[in-house]
Amino acid sequence: MHDHPDKDGFWPLDQDASPCVGSGYCCKKAPCPLGVQLHGPIAPCPSLVEKDGRHWCGEILRAPPEEAARLRQDLYVGAGCCSPMNSDRQRVLLQIAKLSKNGF
Ligand code: SF4
Ligand code: SF4
Repeated sequence: MHDHPDKDGFWPLDQDASPCVGSGYCCKKAPCPLGVQLHGPIAPCPSLVEKDGRHWCGEILRAPPEEAARLRQDLYVGAGCCSPMNSDRQRVLLQIAKLSKNGF
């Protein structure tokens, strides 16, 4: 269990955590504190952006570098997925498996 960010300021993936594959499921189902502050408790979060089959936080994409780094820390971006069995994540994993099987 990590209780502090790494030397670059990002939360490392816990040993037992599953990596985030950008399914967007979490932001579609329940917005984070920033999403609630900006838009109210509505889902999916209006800040969610879909790009090339992956989902990103539009607030982080639009923020200047220092602010984006702070948001990544505050929102635990990269720290892993807390719902690894969700259907959207499974779908993305299947797509990745198909693409790698086809040599992409
Ligand atoms: S893989 Fe998990 S953490 Fe990443 S966007 Fe999907 S639900 Fe969220
Ligand atoms: S503000 Fe960003 S990280 Fe938070 S729920 Fe919305 S899209 Fe997801």
